[in-house]
Amino acid sequence: MERVDCCGIRSPPDKIPIYKDTRKTTVASCIYLSSQTMELFAVGLTIILQGVLLGLALPADFRFTQFDFLRNDLDQQDQPSKCGYESCNLGKPDVLNVHLVPHTHDDVGWLKTVDQYYYGAKGTIYRAGVQYVLDSVIDALVNDPSKRFIYVEIAFFSRWWNQQHDSKRHIVKQLVNEGRLEFILGGWCMNDEAATHYNAIIDQHTLGFKFLKDNFGDCARPRVAWQIDPFGHSREQASLFAQMGFDGLFFGRLDYQDKAWRLNNRTMEHMWRGSPDNLGDAANLFTGALYNGYGPPGGFCWDAGCGDDPVMDDRRLHDYNVDEKVAAFVKAATDQASQYTTNHIIMTFGGDFAYSAAPMYFKNIDKMMALVNGRQKEVNVFYSTPSCYLYSLNKAGKKWTTKEDDFFPYAHRNNSFWTGYFTSRAAFKGMVRDTNNLLQACKQLDILANLGPEHSSSYKIDVLKRAMGVSQHHDAVSGTEKQAVAYDYAERLANGSAECQEVINIALNKLQDKAPSIAAALEWKFCNYLNVSKCGLTENNTAFYMTVYNPLGRPVDKWLRLPVRGKAYTIYTGPNGELVPNQVVPLSKETKMVPDHNNSRATADLVFKASLPALGFNTYYISQSSGRRTAVRKVRQNRNSDVTLKNERVSVVFDSMTGLVKEMTNTDKGISIPLSQNFFYYIGHDGDNSKPEKQASGAYIFRPNETNPYPINTSATLEIVNGELVNEVRQVFSNYTSQVVRLYAGSPYVEFEWTVGPIPIGDNKGREVITRYMTKLASDNKFYTDANGREILQRVRNYRPTWKLNQTEPVAGNYYPINSRAFIRDEVANSDIQFTVLNDRSQGGGSIQDGNLEIMLHRRLLHDDSLGVGEPLNETGVAGNGLVVRGKHYVYLGDKSSSAKLHRDLGEEIFMAPITAFTTSKLTPEEWAEKHTITWSGVRSALPSNVHLLTLEQWNDKALLRLENFYEKTEAEGSGEKEVQIQDLFAPFRITSMVELNLGGNQPLSQASKLQWETEDGQQGDVANEINDFEHHAPFSVKLTPMQIRTFEVTLSYT
Ligand SMILES: [Zn+2]
Repeated sequence: MERVDCCGIRSPPDKIPIYKDTRKTTVASCIYLSSQTMELFAVGLTIILQGVLLGLALPADFRFTQFDFLRNDLDQQDQPSKCGYESCNLGKPDVLNVHLVPHTHDDVGWLKTVDQYYYGAKGTIYRAGVQYVLDSVIDALVNDPSKRFIYVEIAFFSRWWNQQHDSKRHIVKQLVNEGRLEFILGGWCMNDEAATHYNAIIDQHTLGFKFLKDNFGDCARPRVAWQIDPFGHSREQASLFAQMGFDGLFFGRLDYQDKAWRLNNRTMEHMWRGSPDNLGDAANLFTGALYNGYGPPGGFCWDAGCGDDPVMDDRRLHDYNVDEKVAAFVKAATDQASQYTTNHIIMTFGGDFAYSAAPMYFKNIDKMMALVNGRQKEVNVFYSTPSCYLYSLNKAGKKWTTKEDDFFPYAHRNNSFWTGYFTSRAAFKGMVRDTNNLLQACKQLDILANLGPEHSSSYKIDVLKRAMGVSQHHDAVSGTEKQAVAYDYAERLANGSAECQEVINIALNKLQDKAPSIAAALEWKFCNYLNVSKCGLTENNTAFYMTVYNPLGRPVDKWLRLPVRGKAYTIYTGPNGELVPNQVVPLSKETKMVPDHNNSRATADLVFKASLPALGFNTYYISQSSGRRTAVRKVRQNRNSDVTLKNERVSVVFDSMTGLVKEMTNTDKGISIPLSQNFFYYIGHDGDNSKPEKQASGAYIFRPNETNPYPINTSATLEIVNGELVNEVRQVFSNYTSQVVRLYAGSPYVEFEWTVGPIPIGDNKGREVITRYMTKLASDNKFYTDANGREILQRVRNYRPTWKLNQTEPVAGNYYPINSRAFIRDEVANSDIQFTVLNDRSQGGGSIQDGNLEIMLHRRLLHDDSLGVGEPLNETGVAGNGLVVRGKHYVYLGDKSSSAKLHRDLGEEIFMAPITAFTTSKLTPEEWAEKHTITWSGVRSALPSNVHLLTLEQWNDKALLRLENFYEKTEAEGSGEKEVQIQDLFAPFRITSMVELNLGGNQPLSQASKLQWETEDGQQGDVANEINDFEHHAPFSVKLTPMQIRTFEVTLSYT
């Protein structure tokens, strides 16, 4: 276990990092205690001397510039900067301008961990070291002002930056101010777009942007989003990018058929409408698909690991190849240009971890550019950046086509659909979602409790922010990393979670203790295994206290389940000691068999409903008493009467013969449908990947052997639990598949808790396990998914809205990411029925036959799919025989409007669930109530039902606040614009001033000006300031239109 210090680097023993949490004064920062002044002087002198010596060795025109640059840097650091679009070379009219963009694509973990990639460790796995890339590139930029380079992944850049002396930092700042080093994208990582949740996407960008802004100022504000490697592209991501103030997006991967069509029609570059039905033009984003992925044209890869011939330009030597090289370059440029629409093209000169030997790559590019420009007139090639290329397109005076659908699913050839990773590493995907939940609560409580420097809370929270940042990477939450790297990500999340749990512990003490004293401080503990009914504190104490914190801005009821050993319990809460009804439900054999349940002594779950105040907590006193548990009744197979699970609002009938679900009814709405549900598996294809038809199913690719999956069983054994608060039907399908169908009192939806694993591989076959909900609804080839937890997209079987699909994989080619919900509708006229499933982590799924909705739960495969990871996706879990994964689906049957309301509200409750903390105390409930606040809310009144408190966190000496209207325009009753007065919204503080920022928090909206684009359909492409209608006057009334997120920097005055 490695501890990471405050700047994300491991400290040498002689340099002690001092963390300065100066929240109320300046930016939190790291300082090293050392004889640094002398070191800096010495380093500065060395650099000057090196510069002089280097200058002597260079041609005369270089010599002056080199020395001039250093003088600028050391003497005139406040020179006006010329960065951004002002620094662009816009080429020449009437020729083909080639924007040559040197770049490095640095995966924030994949084959190696993020730190191994940074250092260059484990060279046998992959020869890559980001520190050498940056060292090498910075030197090259210093040596030649004509060169340009972009840098993208701030997780890496921050590591390097934190290890540089001030003299080097000044040099780098100067490079940034002159536009020679440009930050593009600027997130902590280049996030995956299929398995990520919008909350985490926004956070990871905010983290990267803040690093850039704090260290470099506005010249480092990225103008262009750069998603060159993710495996498919989400419309919501485009919408979020537009709201972050990006002027454009470039990416590298799109379906091979779509790409061919777009090249043919010259629409690789277009205007993407990220939210046509809700945010309108504010979510439009100019988007360009790159011609050649993110690599150079064939024959022009000159990094240390490349095999292409260098430019051999001395006629006195053998193998002179200038003529071929120039001809090949001009051909590559003109070929590419023939499929784009302006006289500008972009060529990406780089690749994975490229430029660790920058002089080698640059030397050949320099030679080639000089030769190409010197020998012919039709092509003009020069160093450029994606933003300068974008700016040239913007100046081209063109009208662009538009697009409203997304870029899922992605296939690179006919049998290779990248739809497996929607589900790969199902447990890790769940962990990432849960950890986001904890992080948000932790950031809120830090602000609500007004924790200060003495608590080091911002340091602790940063550990988790960075861990979450790297986990969003397109080889992290995607599940496409090596197993060892997946463990590293999980360890980072666990370490960060422990830090955040400590912050919550401190905050709860501060908010609860009526007469705070160190002696009276409680130690709130957290149970990280509640999903498998394991928690030492609740199992081993006959009495304990529990605080439940609700991170939502509205009151919620939450059903809780605590692992216990007693037969009966008494639960009190509230200042007057109100009794809380509860039920003790024996654990199932299947729960006891989950390997992660090991060492637990729990025999039952204590079930009760916590009714929680908005953005606040309740404390419960729980003690063992005498009484009886709820009985578990075995159901005899093939009995005569069906089994019905029901409460006053909904019922589910199980077939008497098979034990499978056969009917569902919404009693409130009077809607009843035949519904069956079962688990199936596909056998993963085991080809050797040598050609499309031999594509194997793997971490990226889903390729089932056959179109029809095999049922795991055609029947299930049943057990029934009936109680006052919860009824359960427990189904066992096989020794690796079980399910609890659960209905709480008063709940309008049904929980399907699935447990899958260890997936058997004894027959040397990989299996991909799905659950399938089967109705008779006439869904007319359609189903619906969310995108990254936000807007809903319609999916049509064997169809893509903007290009003609030749479907080659009837199952995998119809799979889409399901981040938080999916549904099917009865599409016939006059029917209003909708069947909705919400999930607790990102999964892949589809509607392969009308009326059906299938969702992949877990995958275990024995072949690599030959897309780089080099390992089969064979997770073995803690027991070593195969990972067991447990998760939940929440199933609702209703009409369209009630379904939308339910999935919006429930979706919010799932990803921002209450946080539970436990402690033991000798105090009686009466004594406790005297000393502690038992019920507390951080808001004076609840937020309107459509409004979500998306962010509340420290922001230098202020706070960052995001509010979101999370309903779409017309989807449900209550959709529409909402207004919140926020001056006195929060109980612990008043807001005294506020500035509206863009979504990423790196620019006041009042200063935002985005490039304007014309589109063929006549609509203006962008109106950045349209949403900036905020009144900066008390009581700070904020209006939120459907799906709008507004971001504010707020000044707080604690009362
Ligand atoms: Zn990558």
